[in-house]
Amino acid sequence: MEVRNCKSCGRLYNYIGGSYKNLCPNCVNSMEDKFAEVRDYIEKNRVATMPQISKDCDVRMEQIERWVREERLFFSDDSPIGIDCESCGVTIKSGRYCPACKNKMTNVLSDLYHDDSSRSDRAKTDNDSERTKFLSREFIDKVNKQK
Ligand SMILES: [Zn+2]
Ligand SMILES: [Zn+2]
Repeated sequence: MEVRNCKSCGRLYNYIGGSYKNLCPNCVNSMEDKFAEVRDYIEKNRVATMPQISKDCDVRMEQIERWVREERLFFSDDSPIGIDCESCGVTIKSGRYCPACKNKMTNVLSDLYHDDSSRSDRAKTDNDSERTKFLSREFIDKVNKQK
């Protein structure tokens, strides 16, 4: 068990994990209430800006952004709010990466962990044809020498 100081109210509490690393259970509860409030607010004010939400709901912008990164908050397409893809910097509405970067990462992962059979088949075929070319050249050389 780990005893920590709550960042919000300063009380000591037993840290048991979870997404709010620096908050005591009391403050986590009020933060969850805040989250519900912000979510409702966004639903009703689809074009609200980040400072506006922060001011009207009395929540720090960093906290709102964290919820967005955790994919707990979603903004509508007509919302002016966007955050940067952590990889390429393109504007996204939720999460950490844009769809393109997510795709790229999934591909890298599947390359690493799964045998992509169509790809390795193609690679093998390429190698075979290279070898065939080489062999036939060698064969031709041999034939030429024998002449
Ligand atoms: Zn607290
Ligand atoms: Zn990206």
